[in-house]
Amino acid sequence: MTQRISHWIDGRSTPGTSDRTAPVYNPATGRRTAEVDLASSSEVDAAIARAVAASKIWRHSSLSTRSGVLFALRELLHERTDELAAILTAEHGKVLSDSVGEIGRGLENVEFAAGVPQLLKGGFSEQVSTGVDVYSIRQPLGVVAGITPFNFPVMVPLWMCANAIACGNAFILKPSEKDPSASLFLAQMWREAGLPDGVFTVLQGDKEAVDALLTHPDVAAVSFVGSTPIAKYIYETGTAHGKRVQALGGAKNHALVLPDADVDMAADAVVSAAYGSAGERCMALSVAVAVGDVADPLVEAIAARLPKLRIGDGTHPGTDMGPLITAEHRDRVAGYIGAGAEQGATVVVDGRAQDVPCEGFFLGTTLLDHVTPEMTVYTDEIFGPVLCVVRAQTYEQGLALINDNPYANGTAIFTRDGGAARAFQFDVEVGMVGINVPVPVPVAYYSFGGWKASLFGDSHMYGAEGMSFYTRGKVVTSRWPDPATSTVDLGFPRTR
Ligand code: NAD
Repeated sequence: MTQRISHWIDGRSTPGTSDRTAPVYNPATGRRTAEVDLASSSEVDAAIARAVAASKIWRHSSLSTRSGVLFALRELLHERTDELAAILTAEHGKVLSDSVGEIGRGLENVEFAAGVPQLLKGGFSEQVSTGVDVYSIRQPLGVVAGITPFNFPVMVPLWMCANAIACGNAFILKPSEKDPSASLFLAQMWREAGLPDGVFTVLQGDKEAVDALLTHPDVAAVSFVGSTPIAKYIYETGTAHGKRVQALGGAKNHALVLPDADVDMAADAVVSAAYGSAGERCMALSVAVAVGDVADPLVEAIAARLPKLRIGDGTHPGTDMGPLITAEHRDRVAGYIGAGAEQGATVVVDGRAQDVPCEGFFLGTTLLDHVTPEMTVYTDEIFGPVLCVVRAQTYEQGLALINDNPYANGTAIFTRDGGAARAFQFDVEVGMVGINVPVPVPVAYYSFGGWKASLFGDSHMYGAEGMSFYTRGKVVTSRWPDPATSTVDLGFPRTR
């Protein structure tokens, strides 16, 4: 019998009642392993009602209680990393070491959020006027929702829920329907960590569930991570319904390799960031801009590394790169390789021609050289193991290419020239910048987010911006005067 993946409502696994399901696959074997329930809008409404009730209790919990739950969750995540990594790899396909890495980066957010007593400290000004004090506090919003992509089924939900729950909110997760099991494992761990029932909810689903969350008056805020067209839709619909929305979109991340860069080091970094997780990372480097005469040696060095990558089932030891998420996505990515060739790119390494396992959704690694900005391999986010090399004559041309791109999630420069790196960091119009660092995902005590078409809304995710997103400010002005001095005064309150 096919395994059924359900919702998690009010602290327990809750089978769906909509009669709508979606198939879940193991991308390494191509086999259908489960059916995931897809919530109807009435199931969403019922879950929100439970979350509202839980949020009213949870907002009264002490900061130490919340911190204690987060410390307990941290311990559980450490103890059960291997178990969770296996679940993740079985539905996503990324290699086990990458799954462990993802869990580790998600766990950082739990550690950050455990510091909530310090993070939610307000300000206090004594004597703003005679006998008058002012203080600021931050309070939870109520019920907040997170809608997450397939490519980080543990880390991205933790970016959101750790901070949201630490701030005193109830959190509803709508994970990707392609790899939904990790969300239920997280739910179970929250429960074991002592979180009261109803504070963390999982609603499995598709557009119907998302639309119900986006339009429900009791959802105060929505965090989204996914592709740009959906991010734009989420932002527009959520804000039109009065919600606070942060919606992170797609990417086309460029590496700028200057002529003075160490070619071997740059090639190692670019290969790692382009083909890690089969290129299904929003921080993958999908374009290498080679400046001046570094181009030929760089292309040669990258091409030399690709045959050494072992492609296969992510659970097998020694595998470097796993499959893509679905057969359709694999075929779409393969289609881009053909389009690139037709439009004039040089196919240095062709992923379609490689010896990869015939079961499952595998595609080899592709390197395209002499790519130009009009080609679809350059204009579109491919989200697969395809690296495009664009040749630029000067640093300025390379910088202009990056700044002209509609996406602006991440970028990285490779150079030994500190002055050039400093100029790049100052002038590049991208949200996250690496200097000789290929995947500059900020640590949990900074915030994550791109610019332009990679972000809708004005708030980046996690870190200080996350704490601010999940709370609203209140300022209290107080005095304790002697009633004997009380008078009527119709003037505007003065401070001097
Ligand atoms: P996606 O946009 O297809 O799906 C993301 C979420 O939106 C899923 O939960 C999905 O169920 C839901 N969804 C899909 N279509 C919808 C619709 N029409 N209406 C309402 N909801 C809908 O993204 P994906 O394929 O799961 O993930 C890959 C994308 O996510 C890539 O574009 C990648 O760059 C992006 N991404 C961005 C970041 C970032 O931080 N900027 C991080 C990870 C992934």
